[in-house]
Amino acid sequence: MSEESLFTRIINRDLPADILYEDDQCIVINDISPQAPVHMLVIPRLPIVKLADAKHSDRALMGHLMWVAGEVARMAGVSEAFRLVVNNGEGAGQTVFHLHLHILANKGSKATFSEDNL
Ligand code: 5GP
Repeated sequence: MSEESLFTRIINRDLPADILYEDDQCIVINDISPQAPVHMLVIPRLPIVKLADAKHSDRALMGHLMWVAGEVARMAGVSEAFRLVVNNGEGAGQTVFHLHLHILANKGSKATFSEDNL
């Protein structure tokens, strides 16, 4: 039985997903059940269970996730208007226990994502 999170399995290519961006610290995918026309998830490779579990030593990673969110929003053509949501804990609606940032926006462009144009 695997103890890996769903998102770790996606990161490891054990499960399929629309991978929009990735680097040495995180991955960005389309949400499988979008709640808005643009619904992306920024997921750290490090399987932090929830935001409140992030350690002092994770501060740079937390900042990186925020920076990537802004950059992929720009590449999707939604940098003027998007929401960034983190559900922390079951009581707040978290269903996948591997930290992730939701990027939600009403419309986007068909920009191509790659590390080269971020
Ligand atoms: P949470 O409720 O934990 O804040 O968000 C989890 C998100 O993961 C949900 O929006 C859900 O639609 C998305 N999700 C769940 N399973 C999968 C999957 O297998 N692939 C992708 N791309 N997204 C998923």
